[in-house]
Amino acid sequence: MCNSHSTIEGQYDEYREELIAAGMLIPSGVSGVYGLSGTFEGIIEAFERYISRQGAPLKPEVMRFPPILNRQTYLSTDHIETMPDLMGSIHTFKGSQREHITMVNKKEDGEDWTTELAPADVMMVPAACYPLYPTAANTVLPEEGRIVDLRAFVFRHEPSPDPARMQIFRQREFVRLGTPQQAKEHRDYWLKKGQEILKSVGLPVKAELANDPFFGRGGRVMAATQQEQELKFELVVPIASNEKLTAISSSNCHLDHFGKEFNITTQDGNHAHTACIGFGLERITLALLKTHGFDLKQWPDEVKAVLEL
Ligand code: ZN
Repeated sequence: MCNSHSTIEGQYDEYREELIAAGMLIPSGVSGVYGLSGTFEGIIEAFERYISRQGAPLKPEVMRFPPILNRQTYLSTDHIETMPDLMGSIHTFKGSQREHITMVNKKEDGEDWTTELAPADVMMVPAACYPLYPTAANTVLPEEGRIVDLRAFVFRHEPSPDPARMQIFRQREFVRLGTPQQAKEHRDYWLKKGQEILKSVGLPVKAELANDPFFGRGGRVMAATQQEQELKFELVVPIASNEKLTAISSSNCHLDHFGKEFNITTQDGNHAHTACIGFGLERITLALLKTHGFDLKQWPDEVKAVLEL
């Protein structure tokens, strides 16, 4: 085997081009940023309704936040310390008329005009549950804790030829805030439930112990600790490549990290523990298209029945 398709990059290029040729992804000229076809979006919507039906018995509070986050909230998480290479900061122009002319001249001369920009009050959301925690700051949780259903576009600056590695994508999450026991139960419940849900739509997922992509040398230590404490699991399937599997869902225990940071407490006066399960909606759709093909009419009847397609 010596053709380009035998390499991982070749497999990414091949599947991405197939998706674009079929009109499923609409390229933007930037790696990992796409428009989506009506068919693609329709699958996301159907899968989300399925998730809603599955989550309904837990009677979650439903909250929806925009893809931008208060800059102060961002700084209250440790994202800038742990994953600075993935952040997205929003900048805008706040200058005078003279500075405006300078900026436009720089643009026309092909110089770096972005030096004239200043930070806005917002950052891109790095994870769907981040906007939730400040809304619970300085509160005491009810005895049963809280379960919150979230969905948001999240941004990660990791341009890639892999169609499954988008720079901006949606996560559907269920977050539990409560005692250490409640948080762990939530994680364990959804790790099992998540596998059932994904298998029921024909995806051959398996669970893997994982770690976040922490930055730098200190990050390697954090990643090892996270693995050792079994805080993060991912559900993985083949998408563009059969060798390198793709995570389509992840479940995370944050211990009392957010409870401490935002002073969220339980009835016994201790800092709350939190845990979340996230479903990557674009990746799940890509996995469904890879597994069952681009023609929805040809999908297995039981999958169409489960998704009410
Ligand atoms: Zn989360």
